[in-house]
Amino acid sequence: METSSERNARHKKAMQRKKEHVDQRIAAATVDKGLLVVLTGNGKGKSSSAFGMLARSVGHGLRCGVVQFIKGQWECGEHLLFSEHPLVEFHVMNTGFTWETQDREADISAAVATWAHAETLLKNPDVKVVLLDELTYMLTYGYLDADRVIKALGDRPADQHVIITGRNANQRLIELADTVSDVTDVKHAFNAGVRVQKGIDY
Ligand code: ATP
Ligand code: MG
Repeated sequence: METSSERNARHKKAMQRKKEHVDQRIAAATVDKGLLVVLTGNGKGKSSSAFGMLARSVGHGLRCGVVQFIKGQWECGEHLLFSEHPLVEFHVMNTGFTWETQDREADISAAVATWAHAETLLKNPDVKVVLLDELTYMLTYGYLDADRVIKALGDRPADQHVIITGRNANQRLIELADTVSDVTDVKHAFNAGVRVQKGIDY
């Protein structure tokens, strides 16, 4: 049987190998660039992760912009925290969920008007991080022209980071992105009858 000191020595050797490997990979990553991050999938954690990155960015003093393409029923904590922040320009689409408005023409004009704010941010080199929350639905429903969205993302300042959230991200967005996470729904309390909880859900 392996003694405790043999086990410790084996662990140390394995960790040394791991450190060498990690150090090599860190040394090889020398590029700085504005990233396109897409957070998609059916699980919980897309917008809250995106606002986590916004919090980091604001913490570093970076100028940020947020455009929310779907307005929820609840006044969300991220809006309360960031909308008055001097480093953050915050726009919310002035309609509710699409299944609540039930008016395609009104949704399209709201989406197009809201996208104009996104385009302004994507052209401004002083804005270092742009969060386009729930943008994917505007493409899924065909409310926004995918070519126009892809072009604005592609033409943005080279050092500007963009974070896009929403289910069923368009394939072209995924191809253009640098980092894509597909959040899996393993379980969600809502399906067990728990209503939305302040701080966790909104
Ligand atoms: P969050 O804002 O909590 O990170 P999200 O952005 O990943 O969630 P959305 O699809 O935008 O998810 O939905 C926002 C709201 O719906 C939140 O209140 C969230 O808790 C809830 N929600 C997210 N995923 C699920 C799910 N799989 N089942 C039920 N409710 C969900
Ligand atoms: Mg969300």
